[in-house]
Amino acid sequence: MADKPEKRQIIRRNILLFMFLLFPILYYYLSPYLIIMGASEGIVTGSFIIFGLMFIFSLFLGRAFCGWLCPGGGEQELCSLIKNKKFKVGKLDWIKYLIWVPWLLIIVLMFYQAGGIKNVNFFYHTFYGISVYNLGSVMLFVIIAAVIAVLALTFGRRGFCHTLCWMAPFMIAGRKLSNFSNLPALRLESEKEKCIHCQLCSQKCPMSLDVYHMVQIENMEHSECILCGNCIDVCPENVIKYSFSKISR
Ligand code: SF4
Ligand code: SF4
Repeated sequence: MADKPEKRQIIRRNILLFMFLLFPILYYYLSPYLIIMGASEGIVTGSFIIFGLMFIFSLFLGRAFCGWLCPGGGEQELCSLIKNKKFKVGKLDWIKYLIWVPWLLIIVLMFYQAGGIKNVNFFYHTFYGISVYNLGSVMLFVIIAAVIAVLALTFGRRGFCHTLCWMAPFMIAGRKLSNFSNLPALRLESEKEKCIHCQLCSQKCPMSLDVYHMVQIENMEHSECILCGNCIDVCPENVIKYSFSKISR
């Protein structure tokens, strides 16, 4: 592995670890419940704004948030140090959409019942911006962190991202819209001819994608790809690289 790319993955993992350490402070801004509470009072909460930003950024950066910044992603990559089992991609990924669609409808319904948007409060229900500040919020945080860990340890690498994450569908939808609109965005590119079929890329993908197959069929676009760049950095032949480009059709 070349020196520079290895450094990139060290930096990425350290960023994720740092975000995980901030998770107790930040988790209300990623909360699927607080957004409903706020909506029932006609309030746009921090989580509403963050989810909206995720959607907008995903138009140009896909799911790079998941790969580089998500505190829950950091927790799951720590879990993979304990149990590094591959997730069976495609088997349970649909569950998150089954949850996401009714959840989104509930938010819309709550705003409608509240008479629309009345106020914006980014720090809604936090204590000076901090999420964990009393026994109730500590308990809730412990439950969320436990669910994330159990899913990752039971189903395999980033099991929570695959099955339950309510944030991923925003970014997947953003990516699909971006591709449909032919917008330039961060993506993976590969040169199949250079591949020596070692399959290291598939073995090391944190989302358990069959990256080798993606290289062989010359289609590096996958809704579960979090653009972490691990496949780029483990490839001994520099077959895969980042690009900021329109999708090849
Ligand atoms: S790691 Fe690189 S050389 Fe090995 S299979 Fe993947 S793309 Fe091919
Ligand atoms: S395909 Fe590559 S960039 Fe995408 S999640 Fe897997 S290792 Fe990361």
